[in-house]
Amino acid sequence: MLNVPSQSFPAPRSQQRVASGGRSKVPLKQGRSLMDWIRLTKSGKDLTGLKGRLIEVTEEELKKHNKKDDCWICIRGFVYNVSPYMEYHPGGEDELMRAAGSDGTDLFDQVHRWVNYESMLKECLVGRMAVKSAVPKGMLPKSQAADPLAKESPVSPSYDWFQTDSLVTIVIYTKQKDINLDAVIVDYQNDSFRAETIIKDYSYLIHIGLSHEIQEEFSVRIVENVGKIEIVLKKTENTSWTCLGHPLENHNLFIPKKDTGLYYRKCQLISKEDVTHDTKLFCLMLPPSTHLQVPIGQHVYLKLTITGTEIVKPYTPVSDSLLSEFKEPVLPNNKYIYFLIKIYPAGLFTPELDHLQIGDFVSISSPEGNFKISQFQELEDLFLLAAGTGFTPMIKILNYALTNIPTLRKVKLMFFNKTEDDIIWRSQLEKLAFKDKRFDIEFVLSAPTSEWNGKQGHISPALLSEFLKRSLDKSKVLICICGPMPFTEQGIRLLHDLNFSKDEIHSFTA
Ligand code: FAD
Ligand code: NAD
Repeated sequence: MLNVPSQSFPAPRSQQRVASGGRSKVPLKQGRSLMDWIRLTKSGKDLTGLKGRLIEVTEEELKKHNKKDDCWICIRGFVYNVSPYMEYHPGGEDELMRAAGSDGTDLFDQVHRWVNYESMLKECLVGRMAVKSAVPKGMLPKSQAADPLAKESPVSPSYDWFQTDSLVTIVIYTKQKDINLDAVIVDYQNDSFRAETIIKDYSYLIHIGLSHEIQEEFSVRIVENVGKIEIVLKKTENTSWTCLGHPLENHNLFIPKKDTGLYYRKCQLISKEDVTHDTKLFCLMLPPSTHLQVPIGQHVYLKLTITGTEIVKPYTPVSDSLLSEFKEPVLPNNKYIYFLIKIYPAGLFTPELDHLQIGDFVSISSPEGNFKISQFQELEDLFLLAAGTGFTPMIKILNYALTNIPTLRKVKLMFFNKTEDDIIWRSQLEKLAFKDKRFDIEFVLSAPTSEWNGKQGHISPALLSEFLKRSLDKSKVLICICGPMPFTEQGIRLLHDLNFSKDEIHSFTA
């Protein structure tokens, strides 16, 4: 509800502004952009009305502050006076008022739990909730956190460790078969060791302040058929450790992933290449002490500090090219992450990203998203509907499907753009279609020049019904759709009208 992801905020002349749809977004008044808000928070103005004091807020007190000009909201145990922020909230005042005088944590999490409200609203902090709400959900002791969902949740993993003279091996027993290397994310930063294992929608965390120093690089192995993960650390000195270390926040907890915070590590900008007039391919390198692979169809959050405020936006990692063989599972220690990012000159985040120099740092979160590779099982027809940078999740999907799904007969991409100049990787797509006869591509332009003799217009019943022909009568089909919110929402409606079921459609939203 706070700071609605601005990817859905259409640029002034964008076609996105024509249609309604998306989450309730409002055009903001002149001088009320997020950048203006950041400036206001730096102005030294007393935004809470408490002259810098922090207070303990009771539930009764919180309830009293439920009007637009006096609106307090609790998020994860902290209370904010959001009245000064009302006019700057990209989702509008009414959206904020839904949580006025109450605990807005769940509402906030439903819409965009990734938004760094702590930074955006730090000048609005009134204080902490007294007693009950003071404990953030993710901080509950293990038994309390896991119990209410115990029936549905997978069995909690456990861990153990052992050592030789030079190595320490941490073993995570996931108690699940079919665990992949992308299920575990390992970081070692400032003596703190962190290994997060994702099992279904749950997260199991090992978080330890190590008792001794280790070398930066470590290895991660999976023993697949028994679901065991082994993380082998190299000791700096060949001494015997009497203990692994001391537990840090959320250590040994197994909790729903949605209740965990996002974890970031600093990555270095390695290269930046023009792809179209406004879109660039960025290559970022993970630190040597991180093991992280972004699963297909998932995104991460990039974080930069812009005039003193941390700003976070989601981006979908891509392969470095469409034509390279799909190599991620083969190269588990790949340290490079690629992004295709469109620079919006009037945007908040992308111009800042564009100004980074090679060697500068950007923080990258752990992956998020609900695309499951199991959706490919026995797939015969894959249809991809992408608009603009909504093409990004399709890249790995396309590569993976063509390389790894033996049942696949047909992959078709319908790629919507404004003009020919906006088409990302057009020649690579055409080469791929030439090379692999199972793959077809159709470009549709909404603002073509008079020379264009391909398809034109917006997503429509006519375009879709002609395009979405199964290769066999009852073939197993998956349709992936991604683009501006109004595009995606309209597309989903049209797909339902064409009798595709929910299970046959995967839409990418934040
Ligand atoms: P913003 O500040 O959001 O502005 C974008 C444009 O909208 C600007 O022209 C601005 O002037 C205009 N604008 C902003 N607010 C308003 C308003 N209230 N009224 C009217 N106009 C307004 N993008 C990519 O390029 N590549 C990706 O791989 C990618 N992956 C994504 C994955 C997910 C899951 C999601 C949800 C989005 C993804 N995006 C991706 C979009 C990305 O997150 C950003 O939204 C985008 O980069 C714009 O950010 P910005 O801060 O630069 O621009
Ligand atoms: P754009 O403005 O260049 O538009 C590309 C095409 O989208 C247009 O040619 C048109 O066919 C279609 N379109 C645009 N507005 C429409 C509307 N109102 N109704 C119907 N069709 C419409 O697109 P862009 O600037 O590249 O934006 C891409 C969007 O995709 C952003 O909003 C971004 O947040 C989103 N995105 C989402 C994800 C995700 O995983 N959720 C990933 C990448 C990008």
